[in-house]
Amino acid sequence: MNEQILNPYYDRLPGSYLFSTIAKKIKEYQASHEDADIIRLGIGDVTTPLIPQVISAMHKAVDEMALKDSFRGYGPEQGYDFLREAIVRGEYIPRGVNLDPGDVFVSDGSKCDVANIQELFAEGVKIAIPDPVYPVYLDSNVMAGRTGVIDSIGHFTEVTYLSSTAENNFQPDLPKNPVQLIYLCSPNNPTGTVLSRETLQKFVDYANANGALILFDGAYNCYIQDENLPHSIYEIEGAENCAIEFRSFSKTAGFTGIRCAYTVVPHQLQKIHAMWNRRQCTKFNGVSYVTQRAAEAIYTAAGWQETQNVISGYMKTAALIRNELTACGYTVFGGEHAPYIWWKLPKLANGVQEKSFDFFDRLLSTCEVVGTPGSGFGPCGEGYFRLTAFGDHEQTKVALQRIKERL
Ligand code: PLP
Repeated sequence: MNEQILNPYYDRLPGSYLFSTIAKKIKEYQASHEDADIIRLGIGDVTTPLIPQVISAMHKAVDEMALKDSFRGYGPEQGYDFLREAIVRGEYIPRGVNLDPGDVFVSDGSKCDVANIQELFAEGVKIAIPDPVYPVYLDSNVMAGRTGVIDSIGHFTEVTYLSSTAENNFQPDLPKNPVQLIYLCSPNNPTGTVLSRETLQKFVDYANANGALILFDGAYNCYIQDENLPHSIYEIEGAENCAIEFRSFSKTAGFTGIRCAYTVVPHQLQKIHAMWNRRQCTKFNGVSYVTQRAAEAIYTAAGWQETQNVISGYMKTAALIRNELTACGYTVFGGEHAPYIWWKLPKLANGVQEKSFDFFDRLLSTCEVVGTPGSGFGPCGEGYFRLTAFGDHEQTKVALQRIKERL
């Protein structure tokens, strides 16, 4: 086969996908330590089973599929109206946001949506990306040839990075260079920190003044504990004219394996709304009826309560990690409005900052605890380490005890 037929930009991707690299390291450790008792606080996957309301909605929907009169074939590519309306009623109206259900596009995941959205934009469009952040925004633009090449500190030459560090209280400044697409993620993966209303207003005003578009990833909005913090970009004045919002049932309701999410493209963004609709109709055939009925069940009174109980359980684990690490004298961020704890690694005895991948190896070999190296999320993540609160509470306690005693 002639390699010239291949997309050359894939060669610009930095190494393999972060979690595949980590999985390989764990496998190697296990191969040489047969009795290893590894506790995983690394990958951001949920562990609590689906709530009873979701399970019974799924059973009911499966039974409907068994009968001629209620059987469903292809559904609408945009999602069933019952779910689009339930999302608006359950998520947005209570926060004072008046969305049109027709602006909600149901999908099988935010990962696909945040990766696929870039195909609506011209090749030469300039993008701004938080650093550190969920790697999919950058990688999908690398694949599209929009980023230039990687430099010596690990930044792509054509991308504007929005540094989010302890120094700026994880509230990035506006882009220094002109950009047309701005990715934001709040609560942020990996830092677990939330963008303030003031920061979001600043970005919305910038976007409206400069004809830019904000791609706002709110996959973890349900973990925000403070009612005064913005949960949605549409709580910010003017956002409906310049922002697309991505949300997922993965972390909200344990749907990482079931697969259901949604993307809001306001009708005010006329052409983009029409283009996303066209894209979905051409390349996507909808989420299964059973899954959409399952998602709808979260918005019943009982389903909402059960969902909040699961979230509270994860947040209890987040508080445990925060408190225990702080008590050991470490500096940590996040974990108050997100299931992620962002651990600032202390300097080594010789005064040198330990690299986050070296710390990964040290934590694995001394404590048999797995986390995620901060540098995997961008150069500003170097010197940090992400732990997740999705693990089993008791196992997390054991992990923290080992860290206290052995590190
Ligand atoms: N967005 C962020 C910020 C995430 O951290 C994740 C998953 O970890 C996703 C999106 C993906 O969500 P989904 O499971 O809906 O594809």
